[in-house]
Amino acid sequence: MSRRSIHAQLTQWYALVMLTGLCLFGTVTFFALRHAITASKKDTLVRREQRIFTYLHELEVNEDPRSWLLQLKDYADAAPEGDLIQVYDPEGNVIFPLRGSKVIHWPSDANCAKPCFGEAMVDHHPVRTMRHDVVISTKSVRLCLAGSLLDHFDILQRFRTAMLWCLPIVLILSMLGGYVLSARALKPVDRMTRTAVGIGISNLSKRIAVENTGDEIQRLAEAWNDLLARLESSVAKQQQFTSDASHDLRTSIGVILATGQLTLRHQRTEEEYREAIGTMVSECDSTSHLLEDLLLLARGDVSPARIELLPVNITTIVKEISQRAASLASAKAQQIEVNVPPDPIVLLGDNKLLPRLLSILIDNAVKYTPEGGAIRIFLERQADGSVQLRVRDNGIGIPPALLPKIFDRFYRGDSVRNRNSGGFGLGLAIAKWICILHAAEITVASVPHHGSTFTVLFPESITRVPGGSEKSEMELIGG
Ligand code: ADP
Repeated sequence: MSRRSIHAQLTQWYALVMLTGLCLFGTVTFFALRHAITASKKDTLVRREQRIFTYLHELEVNEDPRSWLLQLKDYADAAPEGDLIQVYDPEGNVIFPLRGSKVIHWPSDANCAKPCFGEAMVDHHPVRTMRHDVVISTKSVRLCLAGSLLDHFDILQRFRTAMLWCLPIVLILSMLGGYVLSARALKPVDRMTRTAVGIGISNLSKRIAVENTGDEIQRLAEAWNDLLARLESSVAKQQQFTSDASHDLRTSIGVILATGQLTLRHQRTEEEYREAIGTMVSECDSTSHLLEDLLLLARGDVSPARIELLPVNITTIVKEISQRAASLASAKAQQIEVNVPPDPIVLLGDNKLLPRLLSILIDNAVKYTPEGGAIRIFLERQADGSVQLRVRDNGIGIPPALLPKIFDRFYRGDSVRNRNSGGFGLGLAIAKWICILHAAEITVASVPHHGSTFTVLFPESITRVPGGSEKSEMELIGG
């Protein structure tokens, strides 16, 4: 692919526009000048005719006895371009001058009561002509005057030559100007390109210098810096994720390896072997869960929108998952209360991911609520058609400062940061991802030592309701 710089393209366009402009200007000016010259020549001829009349009239007043033709001859001899004066009688015969005049082929006009203008050639020179039917000394005649256009054509010729000389000079100067201007305008882009080329995964914190010009270049530089900031934060999260995942996997494998090696060091009783294998199985179990979660999140990152939304009965899911959590809850003497409408609520969703979302929220409620606590689950349709799911507990709660972090991958609260609590800090990240896939919103409200409420709001667009009333139905599980 050939790469043409904007710089060169701008200069070419600038030159093209300039060339067109100059040609247009030259042509218009040339014709305007020509028109003005022609008009002025007409005025000259009219004035000349006036002077002839004035001259003849003055002689008449002074009672000069000679014929007006002789008087006109005196005038023609003395006046410039006098040899270009001719007079015809109404029959078209030349009555002045009688001989020796230049041969002029006057354009023929039937009626020249008002002056008729035209162009003719005299001695191979262009002249402007004026014919006028007038009465001189009671005689009707056609007075014909001509004036040379040589001087005027000379002016036009000079003008044309000057234009032809100026055109390339102005064009070259304007191309140079365009080149310099576009170079100046594009300098910051070059600078940005050089900086961008020098930015890699290892120095994503580098930023493009932003000059406070308020123009498009400043906005472009700011957009680049925003992009870099987003990339930097994503890469940092990804790196944190990888390091946390490797740490957890290494810990699990370390426990399995150490248990195996320790057990094999001496002869053990069957009871001891059973205990060691039990530890290894439980560690394998939790590692396999971790791997499943990682796989789920990784798939979500690669193809975030690839799920098939089918009608799913969310009421049944809430009941089933609560039932499943009941054994864990009863081990801690906790009570689970489920409030769902009697008629099923059907959502457009994924029938594997929605149970997963429920079990994350309910398992957490059980996990982070001390013995004898209460967990209440509400599922209800809102007036606007959306569906709200709430999981409320009266457990340890979450400090306000930590609330924005709990949906981050591998985030675990300080008070629960130990292996015995069972979690890897991926549950809420997966819950949030499932909500995003269903266009739902997940929020949390919590008061430390009093409990937390996780709320998921499914938009009206994915909810479907079979007809019938939705009076709430309450079910108590465990306790
Ligand atoms: P895990 O439970 O595996 O640690 P999660 O992503 O499910 O990971 O939760 C992240 C953190 O959020 C937990 O470590 C805990 O500190 C806090 N948390 C989640 N649910 C609750 C809850 N119901 N009550 C109090 N803290 C909670």
